[in-house]
Amino acid sequence: MKWPTYRRLAIQAEQAGINRLVRLIGSWRGLLVLTYHRIGDSSQCEFDRGVYSADEATFTRQMEFVRSHFEVVGIDQVVRQPDSYWRNRQAVLITFDDGYVDNFEVAFPVLKRLGMPALFFVTSGFLDQRSISWWDEIAWMMRQRYPQMAADELDDEICQRIERYYELSGDQRESYLDRLSDELKTDRYDAGSPPWMTWEMLREMAKSDIRFGGHTVTHPILTRIQNNDWEFELAEGKRRLEEETGTEVQAFSYPVGNPDCFSDSLMTQTARHYQAAFSCYGGVNRAASAKRWDRFDLQRWPVYGPMRQFQVTVTWPQLMN
Ligand SMILES: [Zn+2]
Repeated sequence: MKWPTYRRLAIQAEQAGINRLVRLIGSWRGLLVLTYHRIGDSSQCEFDRGVYSADEATFTRQMEFVRSHFEVVGIDQVVRQPDSYWRNRQAVLITFDDGYVDNFEVAFPVLKRLGMPALFFVTSGFLDQRSISWWDEIAWMMRQRYPQMAADELDDEICQRIERYYELSGDQRESYLDRLSDELKTDRYDAGSPPWMTWEMLREMAKSDIRFGGHTVTHPILTRIQNNDWEFELAEGKRRLEEETGTEVQAFSYPVGNPDCFSDSLMTQTARHYQAAFSCYGGVNRAASAKRWDRFDLQRWPVYGPMRQFQVTVTWPQLMN
């Protein structure tokens, strides 16, 4: 049987109500890590709408669902507990990447009300420089140029240009943005307020059960950096987070997180600064193989789509890749 067939069956099982029974018994044991980026109403956003994981109502339902069906854990447990700890558990760790302001304004109040721990991976340079990310700037320029284009079509066009940027390295990137700005006859993004949290917001979150993780200083795809010059991105991002929040930063997430975004040598260097690192290409860290978990490639699920899709994913994460 092929994977897509499993996937279809899992969706049908949700529709038929069978997954409710499966959730009582549990189809997996181990640690499921969920990744969010932005939470809110994407239709009002002047930047990249592709990074929205859920609107506020859906996120709230997802957190209530996770809390009532699974054991919610924090990064302290992931880092400190021995492999045997995960054998009989269905544990879920909630994570966020990048440091968007809606993490504080929308997601944090929900987590706090429900008493749920979470881990926020923050790109320190975005908070320090108050600069916009390259993907948000590409989207912003496109929206300036094509305000009347149909939303789906425009999102596709933005996506294509963001993917082209991924293929570039080093100084090609800035000149690509300059060329795009010329081509689209728009300015580079300059004025206005970039959509990041402030350090003060992080300090407020740290008073609850919230922890922070490293996500570099400038959000490059690390494997595209020449000469494997990763030290600044790994060490300085962590140093700034610890300095500003007064919390211990134990974990790291590789920007973008696909299998080609990290390597064996990067994992080795990451281990000099952090106790764990997370990818983001799906999967569940299964208890049966806890001894073989690579603590520098802990697997995560990027969340998107409607509530029913979320329920299927957390019920059958081992089938949904
Ligand atoms: Zn990121």
